[in-house]
Amino acid sequence: MQSYDRLIELSRERSMLGSVWEALGWDTRTGMPRGAVAQRAEQEAFLTRLNHRMATDPEIGRLLEMTVANPNASSLSEVQKRNLFLIRRGYDLLTKVPEEFAAELTRQISIAYDAWLKAKAERDWKIFQPHLEKTFQMQVHYSDLLMGYLGLSDPYDVHLDGFERGMTSDYYAKMFKEIQSGIVPMVERYAEASKDVQTDFLKRRVDKSTQLRIVESLAEFLGYDIKSEHAMGKLGETEHPFSTGRYDDVRIALHYYEDDFFMPVLIFLHEAGHALYGMNLNREWNYEPVGQSESNGIHESQSRFMENMVGRSPHFIRYFLPLLNKLVQNKFSDMSTEDFTRALNVVRPSPIRGGSDEVTYSLHLIIRFEIEKAMFANRISVSEIPEIWKEKYDRYLGVTVQDDSMGALQDMHWASGMFGYFPCYALGNVFSAQLAEAMERRIPDWKQQIEAGDSKAVMAWMKQNVHQKGSLYDALDLIKNVTGKEASAKPYLRYLKRKYAGLYGG
Ligand SMILES: [Zn+2]
Repeated sequence: MQSYDRLIELSRERSMLGSVWEALGWDTRTGMPRGAVAQRAEQEAFLTRLNHRMATDPEIGRLLEMTVANPNASSLSEVQKRNLFLIRRGYDLLTKVPEEFAAELTRQISIAYDAWLKAKAERDWKIFQPHLEKTFQMQVHYSDLLMGYLGLSDPYDVHLDGFERGMTSDYYAKMFKEIQSGIVPMVERYAEASKDVQTDFLKRRVDKSTQLRIVESLAEFLGYDIKSEHAMGKLGETEHPFSTGRYDDVRIALHYYEDDFFMPVLIFLHEAGHALYGMNLNREWNYEPVGQSESNGIHESQSRFMENMVGRSPHFIRYFLPLLNKLVQNKFSDMSTEDFTRALNVVRPSPIRGGSDEVTYSLHLIIRFEIEKAMFANRISVSEIPEIWKEKYDRYLGVTVQDDSMGALQDMHWASGMFGYFPCYALGNVFSAQLAEAMERRIPDWKQQIEAGDSKAVMAWMKQNVHQKGSLYDALDLIKNVTGKEASAKPYLRYLKRKYAGLYGG
């Protein structure tokens, strides 16, 4: 069908523009000369305009009508129908947002982001407040533009849907309630049980070049190829680690800490979870809408699985510790697998979300979700956030927030206009545990395989069941198809209970 083929051609061009942007973004964050900032900003503004023009090209609207009206439309395959759905949706959403508003929002976000950096450095919410007020007003306006089309009545849901299609605040409220009632009894018990666990050996100095060799070994362990002449992976260095790319070019940038060598290990495992997903996408659908990875929850399930369910497990440590000792002349030969695993899993309520343990992590997300929800419901104003933040940290985690840089200013999400992203991390946790249970039914000894240094079966399972599906299904449907059950927080809670009982008893 000609109109369909042309639609795919236009989509591929836009997706290719996206991958050019990713390559440029890598350069911006890992190697661009400092004097090139303004020139790069101009290049990026140009790409933004080009992308908006391509995405809202009236030809797409005409082609969509023609395709649907074609008598052969019903004989399109499942994949083709999904492509049409994704193209229709993207087109409808973007054409409802005027170009001037989109440009103004981008500008506002870069100003607000700058103010946030300053406010955080000076520990002063007041510097950020007027900028966040303006950003937030624009986000409310954005909701107004799209609520009717999406058939939603809560403006917050528009943003939640933007990061994870189909998700609403009602869904998340129920999920968080279940998670909260499961973890609250664990927080106190395991904070107490792990309070004397020795962790200072994790600060033993490991120089940067050795850390790089450790990470290279782990890349090999996961099959993330950075060495062969066909390598599609690459390691780089940056201030704030990230991964980027898709298909034949998927890269990871890390930061090394000589007095905290395990941090880059966990970050690498996390980013490799994302990267392998991007690399393992179905090549038959390259650059088509269905051949992308759209769901943030599924993406985070891959990274959280690798970081926590693998990286912080005794099985992985049993594989990792001898490897580590070989590379650091037995610097850790006095530590046992048990010492190591316990140190990586102490429960310590903290005011900071990043790097917090698996038991308390969800509480950080619940606090942010509740605040965002109340903001969109007009129940709290931007000026009240710092006080409400402190009160919630005291109530949920029993910690005192000393100043706003450790409180409401700690995350970059709101400064970047990302209202509604935090719950995706929780989805990632929930999905990761449910996927792992399903995998375990097929590969009962997967943990022993990891322990033996073999990740092939695990990666093949993820590739076949998750990565290769791209955007063929919405997240909840994918989870149901793969696991045979509705998405649920129960496997996640089961996983945490089993893991911590194994480490500390109870
Ligand atoms: Zn991630």
